[in-house]
Amino acid sequence: MRILVTGGAGYVGSHTVKELLARDHYPIVYDNLSQGHKEAVLSGELIVGDLANQEELRKCFDKYKIEVVIHFAASCYVAESVKNPAWYYENNVVNGLNLLKVMLEFGVKKIVFSSSCAVYGIPAKISIPESHPLNPINPYGMTKLIFEKILKDYEGAYKMKYISLRYFNAAGADESGKIGEDHNPETHLIPLVLQTALGQKKNIEIFGTDYNTPDKTCIRDYIHVSDLARAHILALEKLTKEESSDIFNLGLGKGYSVREVIETARKITKKPIKIVETGRRAGDLPQLVADASKAERELNWKPKYTKLENIIQTAWRWHKNNP
Ligand code: UDP
Repeated sequence: MRILVTGGAGYVGSHTVKELLARDHYPIVYDNLSQGHKEAVLSGELIVGDLANQEELRKCFDKYKIEVVIHFAASCYVAESVKNPAWYYENNVVNGLNLLKVMLEFGVKKIVFSSSCAVYGIPAKISIPESHPLNPINPYGMTKLIFEKILKDYEGAYKMKYISLRYFNAAGADESGKIGEDHNPETHLIPLVLQTALGQKKNIEIFGTDYNTPDKTCIRDYIHVSDLARAHILALEKLTKEESSDIFNLGLGKGYSVREVIETARKITKKPIKIVETGRRAGDLPQLVADASKAERELNWKPKYTKLENIIQTAWRWHKNNP
């Protein structure tokens, strides 16, 4: 299939492109390289373009006869979204609307959307199913929710079909060691912990030690990026076969605290990793753990990396080789 992958040079995007290529699909990456890296697109086409540029998008749909879209391109930092909501609404919503507009012009009516557990807001119970109320507490989560609502309305009016994948915390790196997590600036816990192990950072800050969790630090559900990538392929296959819209959580269903992540990284790297405890980061929730049983049941998705140790091991290999 000829698949436009917006944001395909980014972290989850590049891992998904690799998986698509392995399955003989034809991904065309559309990425403005603001966060992505051209080296992360291991092979296939890369169009350096922005979703704000409708003309460029049209050229791309025309030239490559796009059949379906996987939409990753977005800004994805919770704290930044609190400081600069205008940019988040513009990039994640307005630019996303440009994409949908051009899709409709070219009669492309299937999209897999990269959503987030940030759509839920404060969890009412420990593991969160897709049916959980949607009350995002930060602009990032709100942009993802708005785009899901837009997709639902476009389905009603224009018969657009979508699968929205709500990721919990993407982590780890491809086994090949060729691609991994490389944000600039880096704000995510696991890469920052590993940078500390490598001596690139003096210490790792723990944001908040007064949460209502067993060790008082935040709990997240870390899911391996290659497992996420595989879920996109399954979603794509379901979407093209069944032509019905759906929403799935993607996570391991296990939560680890910030302290547990640091402890695990110490064991793997055999480095001391100095901690500094600081205040809470704006927009952070105490605990986010997936109930991903629907994806296992209906997408037939089974994560390969079921332990935090294995996930951090793949990340460590990538960070050591790409300091
Ligand atoms: N975190 C931290 N120190 C850091 C970066 C992150 O304590 O330097 C915490 C953060 O507050 C959150 C968890 O680690 O509770 C995961 O944060 P990350 O930015 O990796 O992902 P998010 O859950 O925000 O998408």
